Amino acid sequence: MKAASPFSFPVSPALTTKLAKLGLTRDADLVLHLPLRWEDETHLTPIRDLLPGQTAQVQAVVTDASVAYRPRRMLTVTVEDAGGVLGIRFLNFYPSHLKLFQPGESFRFNGEVRGGFLGLEMVHPRFAKADDATPLPAQLTPVYPTTAGLGQATLRRAVERALAAPISDTLPADWLAEFGLPELEASIRLLHQPPLDCPLAELESRSHPAWQRLAFDELLAQQLSLATARRQRKSRPTLPLPPRQQLTAAFTHALPFELTAAQAHAWQEISADLAQPHPMRRLLQGDVGSGKTVVAALACLQAIENGFQAAFMAPTEILAEQHYRKLAPLLSELGVRCAWISGSQRKAERTAAWQAIAAGEADLAFGTHALFQEAGSFVRLGLAVVDEQHRFGVGQRLALMQKGIEPHQLMMSATPIPRTLAMSFFADLDVSVIDELPPGRTPIVTKLVNAARRDDVLARVREACLAGGQTYWVCPLIEESEKLQLQTAQDTYAALVEQLSELRIGLVHGRLKPNEKLAVMAAFQAHEIDLLVATTVIEVGVDVPNAALMVIEHAERMGLAQLHQLRGRVGRGSRESVCVLLYQTPVSELARARLKVIFELTDGFEIARQDLLLRGPGELLGHRQSGLPMLRFADLERDVALLEAARNLAQRCLAHHPDITARHLERWIGSRQSLSTI
Ligand code: ADP
Ligand code: MG
Repeated sequence: MKAASPFSFPVSPALTTKLAKLGLTRDADLVLHLPLRWEDETHLTPIRDLLPGQTAQVQAVVTDASVAYRPRRMLTVTVEDAGGVLGIRFLNFYPSHLKLFQPGESFRFNGEVRGGFLGLEMVHPRFAKADDATPLPAQLTPVYPTTAGLGQATLRRAVERALAAPISDTLPADWLAEFGLPELEASIRLLHQPPLDCPLAELESRSHPAWQRLAFDELLAQQLSLATARRQRKSRPTLPLPPRQQLTAAFTHALPFELTAAQAHAWQEISADLAQPHPMRRLLQGDVGSGKTVVAALACLQAIENGFQAAFMAPTEILAEQHYRKLAPLLSELGVRCAWISGSQRKAERTAAWQAIAAGEADLAFGTHALFQEAGSFVRLGLAVVDEQHRFGVGQRLALMQKGIEPHQLMMSATPIPRTLAMSFFADLDVSVIDELPPGRTPIVTKLVNAARRDDVLARVREACLAGGQTYWVCPLIEESEKLQLQTAQDTYAALVEQLSELRIGLVHGRLKPNEKLAVMAAFQAHEIDLLVATTVIEVGVDVPNAALMVIEHAERMGLAQLHQLRGRVGRGSRESVCVLLYQTPVSELARARLKVIFELTDGFEIARQDLLLRGPGELLGHRQSGLPMLRFADLERDVALLEAARNLAQRCLAHHPDITARHLERWIGSRQSLSTI
């Protein structure tokens, strides 16, 4: 029996599978599968008119084809037309290619012309058998995003069939007039099959009104979808945890400092949210060192003073341990029973901790994602705090929700999310921002130093440590190989031990056993270590105020968010802090741009904005993107105005136009899973 095609026209099962890989599972998806670019195949260029660097189409006859080894195996084909000769080279080819290029056969080749050693050539051009009798297309040819084994011609035919049906607009004409946007059908058809007189530059820069319409619709769909998820959450019941001012007041009183105004404000928002009978999903954003931890502790206490349990989760053992060590003593004095779950514990200890949690004898549990996986063990989990949320996977967040009553969640992020990202990808969450640092911090001085001057840096480290300060030395990041990374860390450590023999030096890296890691960190914390050689495991959260100097080797290899996080480990006390970025020349264009940003800026939000400019939203979103469709057409930097408009319109739609909402979501999201992941 043949499985029914999910499309309105016959599609083979093999092709259906390939299309599904691209997320194309219905006609409407094909219709919205828009070209990456367009090729002008409407005319031929005589070979003698070709210029190096130009993209052109020629029609020519094969005179010779052979496999050469120079130095690697390649297929070289020589072709000619009435006025010239052109070389064609394929580095990847099948034996069938050689058979195809029979002398005397006529082809069209489309590609970039290069000035080769033996005259002009094209490398890996697109080609098709064609001669004077083969008509030239009358329109620009779309080139679609595709996947391995799915050729442009096949994909193009599928899209064409899907485009045979009329496309209804999801938005009424008077709204289009209001926003100055063109009709959907005309826009889609133009992008798939641009007429010859269409300005290619506008298409390619995506500034053409047709693109604007698609970007707007995509943003609107995202806004509708996330706002719907938010509304649904606000209609789901959970147990309210109103402020009782018992534990929270006592804790605030016991703190050796006053909350900053920004902390107090964020705390007000969180406290009020916890009192709601609907599950909180709040993102607490604040730059590195802005003091998110105490605010999160207050939230836990509000849950606990209502008779509920709280879970405080961190992405690494080091960080989870640090939270536990810092908070547990303070909290125990208030009568809060803390538990601690760690990979470094002995089994018996761990079992005992879980038993306490399950019996309700622990009020607050600290740990890593192990807490997520066992969230069902809590007898009455009221609140889960997720520190450094961008480090966690989406799946782990879901696991937490699937059991029992839905707890409130507070997520914290020190990777500041630029406003446009917060407005788009995080529209289902509520956001609180801590936008000031506690008083008394001396700003961090950042220095860019050529690695050739490493000796000067060593002298400086020696001096700083002998004067009673502590220093981090961050090893070069080697992304390709964990083994090499470890080797580098050990080599760096060995070299520094030799060069700085008068200092007490420790080493921490990702391959240490959890308890070894924790022991090193504890020794650094207690100032039994002067210089801590570390891989980027110390990137998140670590808080040792006496450490005021940091050296980062091969800073040119690191990303902006990472550099900002690392640098945030210093500047935590009242000492003047210095971060030395060692770089090795030559430095690539992108690395140079990054170093310039980190050198010039200290504000995490501004750095994140620059990061977004340098590399797009993908990586900034961290794991969140894996649960959310990325924006394909809209560009958050370029389309801010559209984003604002879409956001406002989404509110209007949800309030007054359920039919339009449903229609629009159906077109853009269809059967795809709900966008709500947290
Ligand atoms: P982050 O927001 O990066 O998680 P932390 O919560 O680790 O920052 O706080 C950084 C440091 O600032 C800690 O040592 C903390 O005790 C201290 N701190 C937090 N709030 C204040 C405040 N209001 N005044 C002074 N110090 C504070
Ligand atoms: Mg923190």
